[in-house]
Amino acid sequence: MAWSSREHQERAGTESALAETIFDVAIIGSGPAGYTAAIRAGQLGLKVALIESANVLGGTCLHVGCIPTKALLFNAELWDHLKHAAEYGIDGVDGRALNWDAVQKRKTEIVDKHTKGLGFLMKKNKVTVISGYGRLTGGAKNGIHTVALTGADGAKSEVKAKNIILATGSDAKTIFGLKPDDRVLTNIEMLSVPQVPKSLIVIGAGAVGVEFSSIFRSFGTEVTLVEFLPRIMPLEDEEISKELTRVFKKRGIDMNTGAKVDKIEKTENGVKVTWTGANGKPVEKEAEKVLVAVGRAPRIADVGIEKTRIEVDRGFVKVHEAGETAEAGIYAIGDIVAGFPQLAHVGAMSGIVAVTKIAGRPYRGVKRERIPACTYCDPQIGSAGLTEAQAKERGLEVKVGKFPFAGNSKASIVGSHDGFVKIVADAKYGEILGVHIIGPQATELIAEAVAVMELEGTIDELMFTIHAHPTLSEAMLDAYAAVEGKAINA
Ligand SMILES: Cc1cc2nc3c(=O)[nH]c(=O)nc-3n(C[C@H](O)[C@H](O)[C@H](O)COP(=O)(O)OP(=O)(O)OC[C@H]3O[C@@H](n4cnc5c(N)ncnc54)[C@H](O)[C@@H]3O)c2cc1C
Repeated sequence: MAWSSREHQERAGTESALAETIFDVAIIGSGPAGYTAAIRAGQLGLKVALIESANVLGGTCLHVGCIPTKALLFNAELWDHLKHAAEYGIDGVDGRALNWDAVQKRKTEIVDKHTKGLGFLMKKNKVTVISGYGRLTGGAKNGIHTVALTGADGAKSEVKAKNIILATGSDAKTIFGLKPDDRVLTNIEMLSVPQVPKSLIVIGAGAVGVEFSSIFRSFGTEVTLVEFLPRIMPLEDEEISKELTRVFKKRGIDMNTGAKVDKIEKTENGVKVTWTGANGKPVEKEAEKVLVAVGRAPRIADVGIEKTRIEVDRGFVKVHEAGETAEAGIYAIGDIVAGFPQLAHVGAMSGIVAVTKIAGRPYRGVKRERIPACTYCDPQIGSAGLTEAQAKERGLEVKVGKFPFAGNSKASIVGSHDGFVKIVADAKYGEILGVHIIGPQATELIAEAVAVMELEGTIDELMFTIHAHPTLSEAMLDAYAAVEGKAINA
């Protein structure tokens, strides 16, 4: 929802009314954390203001994160299927050509559609959307907080509310002080490259790095992935990293782990990256572009935190169960929060919890071990709960079951055999402690695992839970049974 000039005027006209209003909650930042909180607050009958400094609602996720990357990944998947068209009995597509402008156009249309949708949802839920940059001014006075607002034109005003939710999100980290340009890119520039690059070095093999590697490899780019840690997707179960490494190598991606990047230099035609490899030897590689995907820094430097009692841990805001900070009446949600993964659905649920608490209704806090982590590369990854190593570190006795997609008939039908489902269960009671999936539709399949864990499901119960045939979800059933050494199809 880009503000029109009429909307700007309407806003100016309501400025004096704004100064008089005391909202129940003012939310700073309209990413998935902020806009979800705003919608639920409206549904709960709260008087809510949503403050956004960009000229559109939706934040990183909608404009330069989740949605555009997944749009490109879907194009990449289709393109990969077309490479095997003859195998599927579809002739005549040998002369296929990628129309990158059309790919970009589709991506933009999806983003625009959902941006408009957000505008509609704000109106439907009576959320007052306020354009401007918000800063905290300290603690509440007589129970009322004040947000200092700076408009795009520099005009200053104030928003008053009984509660504030800080949802200002994060920015891509850079390295060596390099500012993003047309050769050294972050996710923002990568999403709108004018052409598919011939070669690309991706620094960082977390979700963002592997997703872009996957997209551009599908489109024919020569991709080099460079990761500082000993394995890619380091937060996943070790076996997931191993399988993704195997498949990425098979896909022709040059994999480099334990690699410390020393230098990035512009060359005549591109960029040269120098790193120290795992064997201690220097490696040099040149490419058309470099994507820096080394993590995301919480955006809290200039939001007035220092004027409050809010506590910060290594740049992230410390919160209690419902997102309460150490300053009474100020909450924090989303990518700025300490101790949670930076994921859209984590921010969104934290927003729901915070406003439910503000409304004085019963709520359930977000539990770290019930958060699905999804990476939409090919093959996809979906995981929740403890990895095998984490369970063992906690001194838990575990049983593990693993079922490969190679034994699943639907995986054969969709032509996607790589990967497996791995279940980590408590040895004594069979409670499911962790589920780790790599393979077709892993990001959808993980939803079952989260529901099962939320209900404290056990292997005994799930081994007798009917899964339709032929489906990819049958691989879950076989994996539960594999914990007892009783998978049917392997
Ligand atoms: C390439 C990429 C792909 C991703 N894919 C996924 C995915 O598939 N699934 C997933 O779950 N997560 C994904 N993520 C992560 C996801 O985008 C973030 O976790 C999510 O956007 C965080 O939401 P948020 O509301 O905390 O912050 P943001 O989305 O960053 O939104 C914050 C908003 O606050 C505004 N703002 C900041 N400061 C102020 C201020 N002082 N005053 C007013 N407004 C302000 C900003 O303009 C912005 O609109 C991806 C991220 C990237 C970069």
